[in-house]
Amino acid sequence: MALSASSPSSSFLRGSFSSHELKAPWIHSVRLLDQRSVPRDSYCRKFIVKPISAEQKRSDSVVPLAATLVAPEVEDRIETEDYEKLAKEMEQASPLEIMDKALEKFGNDIAIAFSGAEDVALIEYAKLTGRPFRVFSLDTGRLNPETYQFFDTIEKHYGIQIEYMFPDAVEVQALVRSKGLFSFYEDGHQECCRVRKVRPLRRALKGLRAWITGQRKDQSPGTRAEIPVVQVDPSFEGMDGGVGSLTKWNPVANVEGRDIWNFLRAMNVPVNSLHSQGYISIGCEPCTRSVLPGQHEREGRWWWEDSKAKECGLHKGNIKQEEVAQLNGNGNGAEPTNESATVTDIFNSQNLVTLSRSGIENLARLENRREPWLVVLYAPWCRFCQAMEESYVELAEKLAGSGVKVGKFRADGEQKAYAKQELQLGSFPTILFFPRHVASPIKYPSENRDVDSLMAFINALQ
Ligand code: SF4
Repeated sequence: MALSASSPSSSFLRGSFSSHELKAPWIHSVRLLDQRSVPRDSYCRKFIVKPISAEQKRSDSVVPLAATLVAPEVEDRIETEDYEKLAKEMEQASPLEIMDKALEKFGNDIAIAFSGAEDVALIEYAKLTGRPFRVFSLDTGRLNPETYQFFDTIEKHYGIQIEYMFPDAVEVQALVRSKGLFSFYEDGHQECCRVRKVRPLRRALKGLRAWITGQRKDQSPGTRAEIPVVQVDPSFEGMDGGVGSLTKWNPVANVEGRDIWNFLRAMNVPVNSLHSQGYISIGCEPCTRSVLPGQHEREGRWWWEDSKAKECGLHKGNIKQEEVAQLNGNGNGAEPTNESATVTDIFNSQNLVTLSRSGIENLARLENRREPWLVVLYAPWCRFCQAMEESYVELAEKLAGSGVKVGKFRADGEQKAYAKQELQLGSFPTILFFPRHVASPIKYPSENRDVDSLMAFINALQ
């Protein structure tokens, strides 16, 4: 889908906008839209709904804004819109038309989620509708300096005040004090993202009835290939609470990255200076890096993790259920759903001993063991456990008959509290060595779970 302002066939221009008209005053844009499709009663929307940016002075307290928004000034109507039908109807609509529809429907109860990257296109589209609009952003505390500068530039360029959402200080403190500043490199990014992004987002969305995202199908083949232009949010609740209380609009779902850039260039929109350093997708500084020409943009995010499941939790609904269960596999997240709890067991080998709760309790209690044991505490749905399955089974085969026993103990579900308290379980998988003459098990300290590394660990302790 071309977005070039010079191309008469572009979807953007299908709505009868020329580049000259796009730069026309906002009210002109509104009039154009009214001629085509906007109901008459929304014509005066800008006089009914005031944007937050217009109401707030920078010196006012804005802390409660996005979390506990004032009552909407739009008419209080309860709708039972069929969003699947609407998404099909709008599948061919231009981003501008979708944006206009979203702002028209939700007025002050909708806001654009702005990440500080090329989703600035959403703000430009919102401006072009001529309607008032709100923008919020998640300040995780770990963004690049360039992104903070970009936020400031955007506020000034559009004359708006971005509603920043911050993580809970107590939660961040607990995370950093217990696990350090870079725990995401060791046990996955979900826990940190949950504290710094997902919970602040949840608070922001509780003050809204709808939100607008810059998700595109081409951003992540693994998780975003099927996103519709509008949907009932599958993961979060809006201000009315409950399933279905929040609508999610994805106006650029069908637009390709290069067309977004054509649009930004054509409209002379300011962009994050990190883009000129090779960054495409931009998130937190420690978890984002530039990509090489030809690399997929999501390869620059959480590059140490599985490329198919790169969501930080903001768009978790994109991930299929079984993948969610695996993403929770860092041991710090929510337990898997009932369905995922029935996943096939792993580490199945005749050389491996499956320990029951009483079995591992006995092993831990012994002060003089006849033979040393290596035991993995695991959850079958955990992708880190799955990733080490092959090497662990191979290790068990190598150690068969050597005098070192190799075992496994499933430590999720109701065993998790015990394993955390008595067996040093921090995250899955945890590998313990029970020496022959020492009562306490020794925890394997490394993330390297290949056969040679594990064998070196055993040899060092035997
Ligand atoms: Fe933490 Fe990285 Fe997620 Fe940012 S992207 S919240 S630093 S894990």
